[in-house]
Amino acid sequence: MPRTLITGGAGFLGSHLCDRFIDEGHEVICMDNLITGDTQNIEHLFELGNDRFRFVKHDVTDFIHVGGELDYVLHFASPASPIDYLELPIQTLKVGALGTHKALGLAKAKDARLLLASTSEVYGDPEIHPQKEDYWGNVNPIGPRGVYDEAKRFAEAMTMAYHRYHGVETRIVRIFNTYGPRMRIDDGRALPTFMSQALNGEPLTVYGDGSQTRSFCFVDDLVDGIFRLLMSDESDPVNIGNPDEITIKEFAEEIIELTGSDSSLTFEPLPKDDPQVRQPDITRAREVLGWTPAVDRKDGLKRTLDYFRKEMGLAPVEA
Ligand code: NAD
Ligand code: UDP
Repeated sequence: MPRTLITGGAGFLGSHLCDRFIDEGHEVICMDNLITGDTQNIEHLFELGNDRFRFVKHDVTDFIHVGGELDYVLHFASPASPIDYLELPIQTLKVGALGTHKALGLAKAKDARLLLASTSEVYGDPEIHPQKEDYWGNVNPIGPRGVYDEAKRFAEAMTMAYHRYHGVETRIVRIFNTYGPRMRIDDGRALPTFMSQALNGEPLTVYGDGSQTRSFCFVDDLVDGIFRLLMSDESDPVNIGNPDEITIKEFAEEIIELTGSDSSLTFEPLPKDDPQVRQPDITRAREVLGWTPAVDRKDGLKRTLDYFRKEMGLAPVEA
């Protein structure tokens, strides 16, 4: 039975990965210090009485000890939403740098394959559109977002160094904006903020004039792309995201319509270094992994709305 360590496993994406790897028949060790995650995201795995699932509370910037053999390490630990990494700048830099170093050291010692969760933020405020993996990016290293972007750029460099100089088998996924159940309603990202504002009948806070774009991918599609990448031979970075691009203003309007809310829009200042555009070029994922997203935004948003309604104690909407 393959044995897999998932760092950041109690977070939004990590918990979905725990589910997928349990379903694939792996033994899963979920490691997390709960700085932004929550054991509520994985409690169903305990309830199963599953002896293939174990949770270890640990800060991965400290030496990681795992007894026995390991086949795979998925390094997902890191604050990820802009308000989280702006509140936790040093922890964000440390987990990208020291945490990635520890995870790679563990993979090397165990002869395991490591997959790094990187991000579209390595492209910064991009000057080419859509973004392809061979674009080097446009990041402000000393801006407020730099703590996250540079930590991930360092993590990629460290991963490639372990691959080239130590022969560790590595994979790098560059994740574009992903959404779905288990996002924190108060994580400050556009989708949970807009949904809770719409459900509460409050104005939706659009930053800037809302002309900036994002491309949102449903979590199940992302997890499938990650699984395929891990099992592939591709050691160069691969973009995983949904190329369906939308302006933030249109996105807010879409959420008002979906929730049936009578909320209005209110415009607030654009945060510093907020990328103007973002859309993945997924040619490499298509060609190398045979992957393409399957869930369209309408369906994905409905499934996410059901989750948030439940979290907020609201009755489900009849289909
Ligand atoms: P999240 O905050 O829900 O999950 C991150 C998890 O890492 C949390 O459970 C947190 O407690 C844990 N963690 C943080 N620092 C740690 C440390 N030092 N030791 C142990 N655990 C630690 O965020 P998420 O959205 O699930 O993101 C997961 C990963 O995916 C992150 O690495 C993030 O950079 C990457 N990513 C996410 C997105 C997205 O759209 N959600 C986009 C690009 C990249
Ligand atoms: N945004 C917004 N209102 C909010 C939260 C975010 O207009 O209440 C904007 C934000 O400035 C950015 C986009 O929505 O242009 C996506 O933001 P998010 O934090 O979801 O992700 P990221 O900026 O990391 O792509």
